[in-house]
Amino acid sequence: MKTVLKNIRQLVTWDDEKQEMCVQEDIDLLIARDKIVSIEKNIHIPDVKSVDCSQHVVTPGFIDPHTHPVFAHTREDEFDMRIRGATYEDIAASGGGILNSVKALRKLSEDELYEESLPRVKKFLEYGTTTIEAKSGYGLTTEDELKSLRVIKRLNESLSLDFIPTFLGAHDIPEEYKANRKEYIRLITEEMIPAVADENLAVYCDVFTESSVFNLDETEIIFQKAVDCGLKLRIHADEFSAIGGTELAASMHAASADHLMKLSPSGMDALKRSDTTAVLLPGTPFFLGRHEYAPARKLWDEGIRVALATDFNPGSSMTQNLSIIMTLACVYMKMTPLEALQAVTWNSAYSLGLHETKGIIAAGKQADLVIWNVRDYRDIAYWYGMNHVKKVIKNGCFQKCA
Ligand SMILES: [Zn+2]
Repeated sequence: MKTVLKNIRQLVTWDDEKQEMCVQEDIDLLIARDKIVSIEKNIHIPDVKSVDCSQHVVTPGFIDPHTHPVFAHTREDEFDMRIRGATYEDIAASGGGILNSVKALRKLSEDELYEESLPRVKKFLEYGTTTIEAKSGYGLTTEDELKSLRVIKRLNESLSLDFIPTFLGAHDIPEEYKANRKEYIRLITEEMIPAVADENLAVYCDVFTESSVFNLDETEIIFQKAVDCGLKLRIHADEFSAIGGTELAASMHAASADHLMKLSPSGMDALKRSDTTAVLLPGTPFFLGRHEYAPARKLWDEGIRVALATDFNPGSSMTQNLSIIMTLACVYMKMTPLEALQAVTWNSAYSLGLHETKGIIAAGKQADLVIWNVRDYRDIAYWYGMNHVKKVIKNGCFQKCA
């Protein structure tokens, strides 16, 4: 089945020569089944369904390369505490933070966790996001990590939203192993990773590498086991301190190094020499009131691939809206609106190994598209705090949610 999207004022597409995003004006787009066929002026094909885009903007579907969407409950109480002066570390020390989510998730059955997560993750589509990376990491026992990843698998099967699963057993040291962290690392490497790989539940393995969480040696041990079991790597690095996480990730060919607010010059050099994508999460410092952002402008100017993500999670970034993340990236990190668009589409597709099929509007790519209720692509970031999505097309099908 073919469909023509007609009367597009601006189509955000790809300049092959310059290898960057560009904008074509007053153009039509032909899709057939789940693929893009061509971008041309005035397409007229008899008996083919035509959709009038009313001089609006069309972009690729957004791809969110860093989310924690499977959790048991929200944590607005901690949000309130933080506003009254508690820091993220204070909250963690008082039994809140990630371990608060761990306690709650362990109490739920797989079915309950699925039912809890389903209405929440549907919202990604409403905001124009058609693919997400989704991490476990609120279980921290073999059974509870497997439970989380099985829920991600079921969500992927029941929704048109695509999920790329990541095992994040190394999100924190659970309470019962605080006095014996070595034993927890052993549990991750000897039990969890083999079990995850056995059931084929994750594409990536991630580690929260910080002086207060997993140190560099521990990260390397976990990463080595993950690679041995066929998992690819992502990392939470340089968020609170630069302890060499980015350098390690680059040297082990990780797909992405995420956060990077404290990125050091040697981390920058390591990224420059690698194919690792810098995934930046400006929603997190914003939501934590830290006023400290990753050096996106410098990374971009140095030729390092920069992607943007929500870091959607109940503690430090409670948003599923990549348009707002683009606004933050423009305002605080001096990315242009077009760069920010590239960072939530093509660059994030690349960081997830999806660039052969997704991330740009070009012949042969998957028809994951968003029609926006704006006349200039810059309005997506500029007119902030709004949901400008008019229609979402996933695999060539118009979605009901938009
Ligand atoms: Zn995260």
